[in-house]
Amino acid sequence: MKAAPWCALVGAGPGDPELLTLKALRTMRRASLLLVDDLVSDAVLALALRGRRKPPRVVHVGKRGGCLSTPQAFIERLMVSAAIAGERVVRLKGGDPGVFGRGGEEAAALRQHGITVEIVNGITSGLAAANALGVPWTHREHAQGVILVTAHTREGGHGPDWAVLGAAAAQGLTLVVYMGMARLEALQRGLAAALPPQTPAAVVQHAGLAQERLCLSTLGCLAADARAQGLGSPAIVLIGNVLKAREAMSAAPSAQAVPALRTA
Ligand code: SAH
Repeated sequence: MKAAPWCALVGAGPGDPELLTLKALRTMRRASLLLVDDLVSDAVLALALRGRRKPPRVVHVGKRGGCLSTPQAFIERLMVSAAIAGERVVRLKGGDPGVFGRGGEEAAALRQHGITVEIVNGITSGLAAANALGVPWTHREHAQGVILVTAHTREGGHGPDWAVLGAAAAQGLTLVVYMGMARLEALQRGLAAALPPQTPAAVVQHAGLAQERLCLSTLGCLAADARAQGLGSPAIVLIGNVLKAREAMSAAPSAQAVPALRTA
């Protein structure tokens, strides 16, 4: 009997294969068809394929703002038709599938066709960026919460109301901005309506990967500093007083680093 159609949306995390969940690893190694985002690192993909007697078919379905990308409708059609044809379809997505990754739309399209959808969490890049900066999202001396926001809204939509977000940050919420690099100037201008220019701000490009880059700045200089240092996408912009915790934390003696597992 043919198995009931099934598809998994799996969070591949920020790129370092050691940051994959065990469930993500197990699920992606069950795939007969892997649909891979371009934010998924080669190292993670290699783990999905390593030692498979019958390797899955791999289709890269990258989607990059401003660049040539695979239309969303095409990706959804492919997932649906392959799952109905009996493939074990695994959609491997950067970070967590539920954070600005259109995972919700994909799950809805699959369920509409009676396909069982399994969603496996991944570590979102905003969390990896905070870790790269050496601060938690919510150090209790500086922040009572966190806002995850995208600077990029649907075609034709307005961007977020930065002044409102700035007011929230002024109340002690850390702002973690995804897809912000093309709109840094607007973000800076809008937030400045509610936050002083010396508010700490930072950009982390390629968080959690070997080529990770940091730019530490203030709100008043953020766009100029990030552009001068040549930072680009994919990057997380983090704004808030929680960055002040960085100095106090870096003054503490650091623990001996744990040697990396052999994942290659
Ligand atoms: N689902 C993903 C986000 C997809 S939206 C997640 O949970 O991380 C794409 C945006 O995510 C990029 O424009 C960038 O802002 C951010 N991003 C993804 N991977 C990143 C990385 N390794 N370092 C920094 N930002 C990253």
